[in-house]
Amino acid sequence: MAGTLEKIRQAYRLFKTIDFEQLSKLSKKVDLQKVMEGFSKLDDKQLKGLMKMMEGGKKEKVLPEINADFYELHLRLSDEDRALQLKVREFMEREIAPVVNNYWLHDDFPFEVIPKFAELNVCGLTYDGYGCPGKSFLMEGIIAMEMGRVDASIATFFGVQSGLAMGSIYLCGSEEQKQEWLPGMQQFKTIGAFGLTEPEVGSGAAGGLTVTAQRTADGWVLNGQKKWIGNAPFADVTVVWAKDLGDGEVKGFLVRKGTPGFKVDKIKGKMALRIVQNGLITMENCVVEEKDRLQKANSFRDTARVLQMTRAGVAWMAVGCARGAYENALDYTRKRKQFGKPIASFQLIQNHLVEMLSNLTAMQSLVFRLSELQDQGLLKDEHASLAKVFCSLRTRDIVSRAREVMGGNGILLEYNVARFVADAEAIYSYEGTKEINSLIVGRAITGFSAFV
Ligand SMILES: Cc1cc2nc3c(=O)[nH]c(=O)nc-3n(C[C@H](O)[C@H](O)[C@H](O)COP(=O)(O)OP(=O)(O)OC[C@H]3O[C@@H](n4cnc5c(N)ncnc54)[C@H](O)[C@@H]3O)c2cc1C
Repeated sequence: MAGTLEKIRQAYRLFKTIDFEQLSKLSKKVDLQKVMEGFSKLDDKQLKGLMKMMEGGKKEKVLPEINADFYELHLRLSDEDRALQLKVREFMEREIAPVVNNYWLHDDFPFEVIPKFAELNVCGLTYDGYGCPGKSFLMEGIIAMEMGRVDASIATFFGVQSGLAMGSIYLCGSEEQKQEWLPGMQQFKTIGAFGLTEPEVGSGAAGGLTVTAQRTADGWVLNGQKKWIGNAPFADVTVVWAKDLGDGEVKGFLVRKGTPGFKVDKIKGKMALRIVQNGLITMENCVVEEKDRLQKANSFRDTARVLQMTRAGVAWMAVGCARGAYENALDYTRKRKQFGKPIASFQLIQNHLVEMLSNLTAMQSLVFRLSELQDQGLLKDEHASLAKVFCSLRTRDIVSRAREVMGGNGILLEYNVARFVADAEAIYSYEGTKEINSLIVGRAITGFSAFV
């Protein structure tokens, strides 16, 4: 009985869709009686299929939501942490996304957004005291990912400020130094930079810096050059790592903006992270007071403590860069039509998308666990290095596939993938290249050091 009623309902719905004027025209061309007889023989399934066909073309196909967190890792966050993640996402989409391509193109920095960053209250996220929120490394990673998802340059600016510069002071500074610098840096009233790399010393920084620090009666005299130093052209304070000519050990110095003998030239002509303002620093008899020497930095091992902490953040940033490219590419393939169909409906395109998502999901799971280890105090150099190698390598693959599925538009800035392709190259090289991080992992698993 219920089946018959449903059949009548379906027939009625079908009847309502009939345009009788068209039907009259049609009756002159086809034998309608035979057609009706045919209809009457249709079973439920066939009738439904027919209705679907008749409705087809009228309704827009509802596509699934784009969800790059495929394994729903966000469900592991507390409500408070999830709200913070979404707050940062909303900020990046509102304040950064609309302006980023223009700044990137002009090799310029959006200084007007710095005060707005302060309102987010996420700088120095993991540190206790000094106005810092004292939250988890996991949340710090998630925030790096959210920033990288919209723009890797802004994420890098933030990473230098919050991680490398503030981290050096937090881990290696005296109480007075922390009190002096950290609250202002947390609020972005004071901008920091971190100077380790030199024109002739990159990967080999642990093996010997050439910038020298000579102890004098008044303090210290620094000489030499630092290259690639992010934020340096406008930083209020730069952490400079130099070799003490007295004991041969690496020490850290807080060099204030405008110090005589301290010159910064902006590095021009980069093809990646163009918003990040990198500096070539030249120090000629640059005098720094003893009170501005990082009091707890006594050797390169202390520099390495800072790098270990921040390397995990770079792995997360790589995830963000890959995620941004994937999301933009997926969206594009669902809208772009070729041969009369969305290109997302082609098997070969879906293969690219699924490979991107597989790697992205593996990367996200990996950095999530990495941060859990960090929060439990179990993080080792090799953990951070493995994540940095894997994520920055896979990111290169993901951004290149994202660009590929977009055809020619993949190389246009306005389609929001080209920038990620370029920026992935810098992420791949900084904070330890693939080779150097592989050597760190290799040493840990084999017991043999293959460093030259
Ligand atoms: C955009 C950007 C921002 C940066 N920001 C900062 C910053 O804020 N502060 C800072 O101090 N530095 C910064 N850097 C520097 C960065 O950390 C270095 O570029 C990186 O450490 C690599 O050093 P390098 O460029 O001198 O390359 P090199 O060390 O010259 O390496 C060249 C190649 O040789 C390989 N190689 C080197 N040694 C070995 C080995 N033993 N075995 C096998 N292969 C080896 C490397 O892996 C690489 O492929 C930044 C760099 C970039 C690109």
